[in-house]
Amino acid sequence: MAADPILVFAAGVLGLCLGSFLNVCIVRLPNESPKARSLFRPPSSCPKCKHRIAWRDNIPLVSWLVLRGKCRSCGTAISRQYPIVEAVVALLWIAAVLAYGPGAQAVRAGVLGTVLLGIAIIDLRHKVIPDELNYGGLVLGLALSLAGGHGGLIGAVLGAAVGWGVLWVVRVVGAWVLKQEAMGWGDIKMMAMVGAFVGWRNVLLTVFLGAIVGTVFYLPLLVADLRRMRRHELPFGVFLAVGAAITFVAGDGLISWYLQFVRGG
Ligand SMILES: [Zn+2]
Repeated sequence: MAADPILVFAAGVLGLCLGSFLNVCIVRLPNESPKARSLFRPPSSCPKCKHRIAWRDNIPLVSWLVLRGKCRSCGTAISRQYPIVEAVVALLWIAAVLAYGPGAQAVRAGVLGTVLLGIAIIDLRHKVIPDELNYGGLVLGLALSLAGGHGGLIGAVLGAAVGWGVLWVVRVVGAWVLKQEAMGWGDIKMMAMVGAFVGWRNVLLTVFLGAIVGTVFYLPLLVADLRRMRRHELPFGVFLAVGAAITFVAGDGLISWYLQFVRGG
């Protein structure tokens, strides 16, 4: 497919802006107090000198490069998180447009990828998954299902219900067997959100892949340092995010390959 350069450029600019907004989410949403969680107030300021950041110093990626990663008024280093997240989200939206062409599927890929990146970073740092990202993503997933594909709205609602249900069962059974929390509510809500984007079969695949990725990464740590590892320290949302990304791109292919395999085809 020949890519329209204007479309690719527009996708990149949109990704930069959304990446900039995602940075605000990553910094503010893990806060406990509702005031500190607000995404729109107060406007961005330097964490060190509290100087309000002017619009020209708040242009995604460009400002960080122009300022060489330092606050204009006090010279304090600005976290590399900002330009990296902005660049990754921009590349994500460009990849979505190149892979799926202009349309609902590209928007779905871009939105899900952006939300998953935010969830993964926050879960890795703080071991929480903010409701704002789960519920916001769920609403967007249901809304985008109205554009068709993957069974439409009914498919999205079913996907959300199955995603929520399967991890809820893990939580209940885990609490009964292990006598401790086996699955956090954040993960359960996250799978409802992912299910709205990928449908019920692919959300089951997401949980399966997330468990595999988690095991591969954590088994060596677990063996090496069994005493210090506590179950609730597992940032399972990170692994579920990886599983969801793989599923979105390749889930249908993986499931049909598997079905052929078990049927001996
Ligand atoms: Zn400053």
